[in-house]
Amino acid sequence: MYLKSIEISGFKSFAKKNGFSFNTPISAIVGPNGSGKSNVAESFRFVLGEQSIKSMRGKRGEDLIWNGSPELPRGNRASVKVVFDNERKIFDIDFPEVTIERVVHRDGLNEYSINGSPVRLKDVIELLAKAHIGSSGHHIISQGEADKIISATPKDRKAMVEDALGLKIYQYKRLESERKLEKAFENIAQVEGLRKEIAPHLKFLKKQVEKLEKTESLREELITLAKEYFKREEAHITESKKRLEAERKPVEEELKKLSKQSAEAKEVMNLEKDLTKIRGERDLATRELGKLEGLIETYERQIEAEKGRAAREELKTVRLKEVEDLFEEVKAFAEVAKVFDRITAFIRERKHQEDSRLISELSAKIVEAKKRKGGLEALLKAVQEKEQKIIEAEKVALTSEVLEKELVSKLNFLKSREATLQSEEAAFRRELAEVGHVAGASALKYHDVLATDDDRAKQEERRHALERLKIRLEEASIAGSDEIMKEYRETSERDSFLERELADLEKSAGTLKGLIKDLETRLATEFETGLKNINKEFGKLFAKVFDGGEAGLALIKNKTEEEEGEQSIEEGLEIKVSLPRKKVKSLMMLSGGERALTSIALIFAISAVNPPPFIILDETDAALDEANSRKYGDMIEILAKYSQLILITHNRETMSRAGVIYGVTMGGNGISKVLSISFDEASEVAK
Ligand code: ATP
Repeated sequence: MYLKSIEISGFKSFAKKNGFSFNTPISAIVGPNGSGKSNVAESFRFVLGEQSIKSMRGKRGEDLIWNGSPELPRGNRASVKVVFDNERKIFDIDFPEVTIERVVHRDGLNEYSINGSPVRLKDVIELLAKAHIGSSGHHIISQGEADKIISATPKDRKAMVEDALGLKIYQYKRLESERKLEKAFENIAQVEGLRKEIAPHLKFLKKQVEKLEKTESLREELITLAKEYFKREEAHITESKKRLEAERKPVEEELKKLSKQSAEAKEVMNLEKDLTKIRGERDLATRELGKLEGLIETYERQIEAEKGRAAREELKTVRLKEVEDLFEEVKAFAEVAKVFDRITAFIRERKHQEDSRLISELSAKIVEAKKRKGGLEALLKAVQEKEQKIIEAEKVALTSEVLEKELVSKLNFLKSREATLQSEEAAFRRELAEVGHVAGASALKYHDVLATDDDRAKQEERRHALERLKIRLEEASIAGSDEIMKEYRETSERDSFLERELADLEKSAGTLKGLIKDLETRLATEFETGLKNINKEFGKLFAKVFDGGEAGLALIKNKTEEEEGEQSIEEGLEIKVSLPRKKVKSLMMLSGGERALTSIALIFAISAVNPPPFIILDETDAALDEANSRKYGDMIEILAKYSQLILITHNRETMSRAGVIYGVTMGGNGISKVLSISFDEASEVAK
């Protein structure tokens, strides 16, 4: 037994809390008309998640709540709590007992709980479906519904059978899968649309990016080459500067020295205007010196001659005058001795005196001349020295001038080289700036590059190559490359995302198709097997009830015209009956009782094939006579072997088959009340 109890509170006529315990296979609920028995069956529908208020004989949700009477004001909520035994794990939940409760409030709010925990309706439905208690309530046959299965259209009948066979869950799953598949197709179309939308832009961006990548490789090529070029160029400039400096310094120093020398020489040379004078002086002095030398020679010769004459006395001469003077003097002398003495003295005087006077006169002249010669010689020497100095200075000046010219031209050459170097350096700086601008700052990080050779020809080739690359790069450059890259990245990421999404969607569509196919196969096979079993049971029960005869359900296919003119095949179940000893083949020809029995037999057959945990039958026996009531009772007992039965009845025979009988009464206050009663008490209200 799976159904343990139900507790009804504030639901319809059950204004107060009432409970039923179902601890026997068959429980009967009896009571006078209008006492609230059907409300019990509806309370089951309610708690099991029935959404159709109509099927619970109401118009609005609040029709389910105790509506009030003079004695008891209307309630604000209705609650029904059903308790199942779960020892045999009919519910997929790890509790020995499962309590489901539903509460409806006047404002229409519904609350559900499973074992006290609030849940959604979906959870309740799923839990019940697993235990084969469908929310469609195929196991709750309401009053007057007994021949519903007979009067239904083949299509609806098929649906009822499917539901009873527990195939609803597969149908629901199929429907859900179909909905999901449809949604997946919609999403696929949407994603494909989105991809189509971005495709031209992505194509354009891709081309731009390809260009950019080409540009990037050009840029890298340029950077590598530029670094090599810059490194060498800088080294070349630094080296050249050093070399020029080293070459210039000694030239400048030499030049300085030379110009000093030349200035000095020029200073000396300034004296050159005196050179003619000096030379004149020199010539004069030379001539005079010659003359003096001749004079001195003459004097010396005269002295030599005088000296010779003196040596020869007889050759000595006395001037007449002197002799005359002497004569005059001696004439006056009276004594001859005196005259003699005087003449002797005269001769003595003249003998030596005359010679030495001339010689000394000449000697004096020689001394004079020699003195003069010495002076002239000194003068000549000084003049010659001066002359020599000037000549020397001229030589120095000339040499200096030549050297100076040489050095100046060398210096000029160095300066021109410096100027070339400066323009090379300026070009280098310009190149740096340009390459930095075209290829970015990384091109300027060339200091770590290993480049030692300084082949200017190769360097020139590099420069040309650099120029060519620069032009190519400038031509290939696209404005806003960062934005393009970013946009391409984002767009392609989006496209990849959409592609993945599409693949996922296609995969899930494939899975869903597979699932639908599986479900359809399962539905078809289970339906086929179920139908076979139902027919077996139906046939047996029918023959038992009618003491023979045959009955069965047959699958039929009808072509239907749909709204848009499309044809579709509609499947349904047709009931075929053949009563014993009667030629009745059509259901239309059955009597009310026969119809009720056939219907009950079918319901029972269906329930026997796929027994729900419990079945509620609300006065399905109403139309049966005594004999048929017994047959009905027999069938009930068979059915009770599979499912727990709750029978709302006025039928004594039915009551007699129940293990427990509940009486539902309603006093003048309109409130239903539940009593546990004996069979005899029950019989009193029975027909
Ligand atoms: P029968 O034997 O004739 O089938 P029953 O015992 O099955 O009768 P129900 O149909 O279950 O009787 O009960 C109907 C009673 O419940 C009526 O008296 C009706 O007024 C009462 N009822 C229904 N809804 C409410 C409500 N919301 N509040 C109060 N009473 C209600």
